[in-house]
Amino acid sequence: MTLLVDSHCHLNFEPLNAGLEDVLLRARENGVGHMLCVSVTLETFPEIRSLAHGHARVFASVGVHPNETEGREPTVDDLVSLAKDERVVAIGETGLDYYRSHGDMAWQQERFRRHIRAAKQSGKPLIIHTRDAAADTLRIMREEGAADIGGVMHCFTESWEVARAALDLNFFISFSGIVTFRNAETLREVVKQVPDDRLLIETDAPYLAPVPYRGKTNEPSFVRHVAECVAGIRQSDIDTIASVTTRNFFTLFSHAVPAHD
Ligand SMILES: [Zn+2]
Ligand SMILES: [Zn+2]
Repeated sequence: MTLLVDSHCHLNFEPLNAGLEDVLLRARENGVGHMLCVSVTLETFPEIRSLAHGHARVFASVGVHPNETEGREPTVDDLVSLAKDERVVAIGETGLDYYRSHGDMAWQQERFRRHIRAAKQSGKPLIIHTRDAAADTLRIMREEGAADIGGVMHCFTESWEVARAALDLNFFISFSGIVTFRNAETLREVVKQVPDDRLLIETDAPYLAPVPYRGKTNEPSFVRHVAECVAGIRQSDIDTIASVTTRNFFTLFSHAVPAHD
């Protein structure tokens, strides 16, 4: 069977970082071949970079999360220069989140615009996070020409209309363990409609563990449950979902070189 890819996780977060070798072993035992460890601050980026340099099956991104308010604000040049690292395959996670941040969101929008510019300059695609901010997210993607570089809408929870707009902008749609939640019926309708060649899956570990691990620490090995759930919704099978999503991952993140034992 084709190995799965976890297209979005945070291996450097607690408690995954403490037991990392076991986490990676369990991923392997569950048929997870590769993982993309996603950056949320400039301060923690070096941890992610060394994880990706130390493990052939872990790739890195560089970016500052939309809700991050403590760390250094990245310039376009900062991002472009850090993205030159050969193990960095994407820019993000970036985007807009009006659920956890409030008030004047101009700073968040400016940060998002700088990530899009950096992605276009570096030739590496975007990882976009959007929550309670779909209209502004799509507007800024259009204004900044994000379609020129493309990327992924990660942990997708929006409507089919938003998915359709993102697909039209050259983006992939990634589903997390949320698709396994009992109350996610509307989202499962979206899962049905995303074309095969734009579909990705992720854990967003250590958060959002899928059923039957809901409430526990999430980890990349659980992406298998996301794949099984997506296969059921699409009346497909896990082998097909694995080969489709793995092929899509290496198509989108074209700087990621698959590891071979
Ligand atoms: Zn996110
Ligand atoms: Zn994330």
